Amino acid sequence: MGDITEVTGMVLSAMPVGEFDRRVVLLTRERGKISAFAKGARRPNSPLTGVTRAFVFGTFQMYEGRTSYTIRQANITNYFEDIITDLDAVCYACYFAELADYYGRENLDASVMINLLYAALRALAKPKPGNELVRYVYELRLISVNGESPDFFTCQGCNEEKSAFYSFSKRTLGVYCEDCCRFASDAVVLNPSAVYTLQYIVTAPIEKLFAFTVNDEVLRQLSEVAGAIRRNAVDKTMKSLQMLEFQEEINVSE
Ligand SMILES: [Zn+2]
Repeated sequence: MGDITEVTGMVLSAMPVGEFDRRVVLLTRERGKISAFAKGARRPNSPLTGVTRAFVFGTFQMYEGRTSYTIRQANITNYFEDIITDLDAVCYACYFAELADYYGRENLDASVMINLLYAALRALAKPKPGNELVRYVYELRLISVNGESPDFFTCQGCNEEKSAFYSFSKRTLGVYCEDCCRFASDAVVLNPSAVYTLQYIVTAPIEKLFAFTVNDEVLRQLSEVAGAIRRNAVDKTMKSLQMLEFQEEINVSE
């Protein structure tokens, strides 16, 4: 059967395989993103049933074969049950997991991404700061962690670190100071607290990342900035994002 190895991490997705099995994608501290089989996980009373579904977090003991992993048992420390019973939160969580899957690589240390995803899922389960803000914070920080975030501290026009910025260009993906803001094309005018929020999102410790709220005006500006940055960084159509946006439209029209 091969060697037994233990990893800590989260199930990003699970799909049925064959008659009774499941294949899961795990984001782990030790091995990065890996896929593993859970034999018999869809049989009634299998001990693997509850521990091999999306968003469970814990340690997984696995047989390591030459080309694949097979889950032997798991110790789950968080099932995120309050998320899976809330349709809105599930839509966000699926999208967060798909984005983590997009950036995850086998044998690439995923500790920071796991901590970020874990904190974002915990924030979804709470009334504040609100799912939409959690989404923009998660998107921007994840893209930043993977080295693709713009610099929110330096003006793209004069290349100077300024204390205040007035706009964000969706074309150059940079911030502009008062003197240079006329050069910003396709610009989003930024409220000072939106600028501060963007700077906070890319620098704050993860445990403090979801501990603030913003007003509606700042939320709209974050939405535009995060959307432009994501479309530039992520060149993949995410099914879960389409589902999430569909769900958001239903919520708006209700
Ligand atoms: Zn400038």
